[in-house]
Amino acid sequence: MNNSCPNCGTVYNITPQLIGKSTSCKKCGAQLVIDASGLQLAGGGDSSVGPFWEILKRHPILLISFWVMIGTRIVGSIVLCGMTLFIFIRFVFIESVR
Ligand SMILES: [Zn+2]
Repeated sequence: MNNSCPNCGTVYNITPQLIGKSTSCKKCGAQLVIDASGLQLAGGGDSSVGPFWEILKRHPILLISFWVMIGTRIVGSIVLCGMTLFIFIRFVFIESVR
């Protein structure tokens, strides 16, 4: 039986008489329900995870495209920075040679 808060891990003394009751965590304030398996977050889902990540978790293709998007952004900005630096250094070098 899970007797700790799923959100923060605070351990509570759960007795079978409490099954079906709902409460809130005294430490983190999470809404909890007590079922046969112990303490659960109210509403069935973990409220700590935002809807954006929930959607990504349910659709792996979105997660992949999300990382591809981030990856191309990072690579793109590195290339752009490198090119700017290269052009800058070349100009400075040419100017100093003259
Ligand atoms: Zn808690």
